[in-house]
Amino acid sequence: MTKKKILYEGKAKTIFEGPDSNTIIQYFKDDATANNAEKHSIINGKGVLNNAISDYLMQKITDIGIPTHYIKKLNMREQLVRKVEIIPVEFVVRNIAAGSIVKRLGLKEGQLFFRPLVEHYYKKDELGDPLINEDHIINFEWASRDELDEMQEYGLRINDFLRGLFLGIGLKLVDFKIEFGRYFSEDGNSILLLADEISPDNCRLWDIKTNNKMDKDLFRQDLGGLKEAYQEVANRLGILPEKKTYSSSKTEIVK
Ligand code: UDP
Repeated sequence: MTKKKILYEGKAKTIFEGPDSNTIIQYFKDDATANNAEKHSIINGKGVLNNAISDYLMQKITDIGIPTHYIKKLNMREQLVRKVEIIPVEFVVRNIAAGSIVKRLGLKEGQLFFRPLVEHYYKKDELGDPLINEDHIINFEWASRDELDEMQEYGLRINDFLRGLFLGIGLKLVDFKIEFGRYFSEDGNSILLLADEISPDNCRLWDIKTNNKMDKDLFRQDLGGLKEAYQEVANRLGILPEKKTYSSSKTEIVK
């Protein structure tokens, strides 16, 4: 593990200073939290799996031309990424009804939306990340109109791409949450980059045949088997070496 200075201690990741002032290191922890950290557990190996899955998905998203903060994976738990000023808005893209929208609007879990639905939440743990609309974002200057349009477009493109990618490995992409940040170049101009992570901690993934959940709902709903499900997602993505077992007591993939 790096000996660098901690810049921020998050729920599932620790952010360390990077080798230069434009980069930071994301360290993926084994902590699982739900209900704004009211529920907390350590799931050995979760951080290693999320680092691998997010590394893979961020690279693929970069490949389709969406700017991301991603630079490279450093080791089993760490990624080098560009340092950005995080925009305090969580973008949730939904294809199928699940989670908070089911309760809020009295929907049936599993209902397919007519078209992808984008929601915005204010990123503020103290307030429980409340649902907001575009007018709040513009009015409180959390993002400009142009930035908002750009993030909206990126969100839908990422959704199209990830839906297809997961479909190819027998998984339905139910919904996901993404965050963006501003990256400042030396001339003071800023560009938007997709930031944070994309992993089963912030996506809902259901098996196409069985509808089994393969994401953090296993923890939220006390269903168990979270590590095995994340491992299965990684296996289907082809990013874990075959015929290797995963040690629950260590944070490394072992033979
Ligand atoms: N999500 C997230 N972080 C949050 C809230 C939601 O990553 O703070 C993800 C969540 O995993 C799901 C999607 O965003 O894939 C939609 O979550 P929802 O609004 O249904 O909230 P939840 O049911 O998780 O409270």
